[in-house]
Amino acid sequence: MGTRPHRRRLARGAAALLVAAAAVPAVTTAASGSDGSDAAALAAQHGPKKAKNVILLIGDGMGDSEITLARDYTVGAGGRLNMDRFPLTGAYTTYAVDKNGKPDYVTDSAASGTGWATGRKTVNGRISKTPGTDRPMTTILELAQKNGLATGSVTTAELTDATPAVLASHVGDRSCQGPADMKACPSDTIGKGGPGSIAEQSVNHKVDVLLGGGRARFDQRITEGPYRGMTVTEQARRLGYQVVRDGEGLRGARADRPVLGLFAPGNIPVEWTGRPAAVGGTAPQRCVTNNPERTAGTPTLEQQTRKAIELLEAKQRGGKNGKGDKSGKGDKGGRGDKGFFLQVEGASIDKRDHSADPCGQIGETAAFDRAVRVARAYAAEHPDTLVVTTADHGHTSQIVPLEANPPGLSSTLVTDEGQQLKVNYSTNTPGKSQEHTGTQVRIAAQGPQAERVLGVTDQTELFTTIRTALSLR
Ligand SMILES: [Zn+2]
Repeated sequence: MGTRPHRRRLARGAAALLVAAAAVPAVTTAASGSDGSDAAALAAQHGPKKAKNVILLIGDGMGDSEITLARDYTVGAGGRLNMDRFPLTGAYTTYAVDKNGKPDYVTDSAASGTGWATGRKTVNGRISKTPGTDRPMTTILELAQKNGLATGSVTTAELTDATPAVLASHVGDRSCQGPADMKACPSDTIGKGGPGSIAEQSVNHKVDVLLGGGRARFDQRITEGPYRGMTVTEQARRLGYQVVRDGEGLRGARADRPVLGLFAPGNIPVEWTGRPAAVGGTAPQRCVTNNPERTAGTPTLEQQTRKAIELLEAKQRGGKNGKGDKSGKGDKGGRGDKGFFLQVEGASIDKRDHSADPCGQIGETAAFDRAVRVARAYAAEHPDTLVVTTADHGHTSQIVPLEANPPGLSSTLVTDEGQQLKVNYSTNTPGKSQEHTGTQVRIAAQGPQAERVLGVTDQTELFTTIRTALSLR
């Protein structure tokens, strides 16, 4: 760290110290990634300042404990995961707010995702809407679309779950996932002049690539508006989407039309299984690394991520009609050389943490880490790609000494390096869902504007980092 610090704003303590220590002259280029001489000099010194593409990888509930557990179990305490290999790492705060704007110290995924998606904090449960007045807030994906970029969202959860939802929908409550789920969002219904459920809004936004679970939400029937009587899946087809349901369908998907991949009725089954943590602990266990619930046709997060990048890159290269455009400007109405924004979520790290299931949680973290590898390999070939890996909030699991006797749930694992490791889940009464925590979490990055993650920032600043890197207006 500290070999190439060149932050524009030196307001934050740790980063400012780094800059001072390295005695690098402060740089004052315009915030919009201007092509002026300062920026050109910087680009010559440090690579491009403007990103063509952004890949944002979110480990849901992936606090430092979750990362450490996956590292200890899979590559060993002295080993390094792919997510440990980013050149620049900082920490960010994740708190939500109440309706008066006062801090709510433990966030959920809806308020947290709204933070980076819109640059503004909101109330837990709300999807890209203001805390007090319930008004929609413009998202980073909407800005990317407006600026001509191709866009995508990939998750192991339902596509209507909070973290993917914040990008391309605005509802008063995260539970309003399909047209039959609108009870908590009366003013968002199409009948009341609202934008409809998260599923309907996602396809109405014409996000180019939507891959994940949640088929049952999209198979719900629409009861109001121009698509009345259709399911959301049928609406998506009407809007031009290719709908794919397994790995083979995904492999055959083409870039000339948007893609909706729905690989499970609900969340995509997790990769690993094992005994859940128990009161008084478990016998030492090794995790089962092939969950029989995953069929051969279920694509991994790594496969989804690879295909999403391929589709988005082909789309921006080929323009709207998917015909190759050698001029690089794209055809009329096409995207030409504009690049893409892709969000990838490893969702079930959080879900297995809630269930005090250490093997499920570690398997999902390892699967997420393989998606990180795909993103970093792409960026190695395309240095004008900003890659950011972070989490939306901390979670319950803690590594404790073997001799500890926690009052809640715990489990002893035998790691790949043959050592025992004890995991404790005690943020709620045994039998209840274990809880998120209010801790700061890691944010790591490489590529244009990556230095903005250094020091201690807030997750709302990630919105500005992406917006600045892509020069979105
Ligand atoms: Zn959660």
